[in-house]
Amino acid sequence: MRPLTGTIQSYDAPSTAEIAQRVGLPVDQIIRFDGNTAPAALPSTRAEALTEELGRVHTYPHGGYPELERAIAKYAGLAPENIVLGAGADDLILLLTRSFASPGDHVAVRNDPTYPMFPISVWVAGAEVSDDNPVLTICCRPNNPTGELGDLSAARPLVVDEAYFEYSGESAVGLIEEGVIVIRTFSKAFGLAGARIGYALAGRDIAAELNKRQHPAPLSTLSAALALAGLASPPDVTPILEERERMRERLLELGFEPRQSRANFLYVPVDDPRAEYDRLLQHGLAVRPVYGGIRITIRTKSDDERLLQALVG
Ligand code: PMP
Repeated sequence: MRPLTGTIQSYDAPSTAEIAQRVGLPVDQIIRFDGNTAPAALPSTRAEALTEELGRVHTYPHGGYPELERAIAKYAGLAPENIVLGAGADDLILLLTRSFASPGDHVAVRNDPTYPMFPISVWVAGAEVSDDNPVLTICCRPNNPTGELGDLSAARPLVVDEAYFEYSGESAVGLIEEGVIVIRTFSKAFGLAGARIGYALAGRDIAAELNKRQHPAPLSTLSAALALAGLASPPDVTPILEERERMRERLLELGFEPRQSRANFLYVPVDDPRAEYDRLLQHGLAVRPVYGGIRITIRTKSDDERLLQALVG
């Protein structure tokens, strides 16, 4: 194989069963604050959405996913020709980087720390992460793990990862005719992380070129049916935003310094993130250790209170 230009460390987290075994607790006592996903399946995630599709599961999605593309286009205020589908935002990050960057090229990655799949996609393409004359710039907005909204200044082409768009309500979609490409996902606010559905929004020419480079059937037809059902009643993120602000206030009261966040998680600086992760895991609470802190996904008030107790305990 072509050697990698950087060292890839797996971004995946252990399974809930593995955590339970490691800390000696029953599986149902493990609470995950580490995936930035919804605390439970949304009401729109119904088995009926799958039933009809199951009768066709033996066939390929010949002709693509026109109904889903139309529904996404309507949701994003664009045309179906602006849509590129993928198996999660990760699939589109990999597609975009390998479409723009050749081995030896430079790709700029904004914000540090940020989402680790960006450098991984650059290395897999044989390119290097560097601000020096980049062929592509990638930025995460709101940024994972800090929750901040970065600026969208000059660099083009620019990929803006809006995995957490529904929480911030801010989008770069108005810039797609200027060489901005937006990536979004159904994994977060739509509560469909396990279904693996993402999309990119781009100017028609760029979208057409990306679709040529995407494989012919990137989405499970069952997942496409779930996404359509989700779009028929888009999520209300207000309760999560309110709970995020309540958690932030409580953390401040307890002497922590959580960053202000525009997403469904909080970045809390701590001295030894790994030690804090291990300590919380003993309570059955899985957070994400990140550079300089821990990242906490907002869940329900009762789950979040358990975490607060363990943080000070
Ligand atoms: N982008 C960002 C910024 C993320 O935080 C995540 C999820 N961890 C993803 C992309 C991946 O999303 P998906 O589940 O759609 O692949």
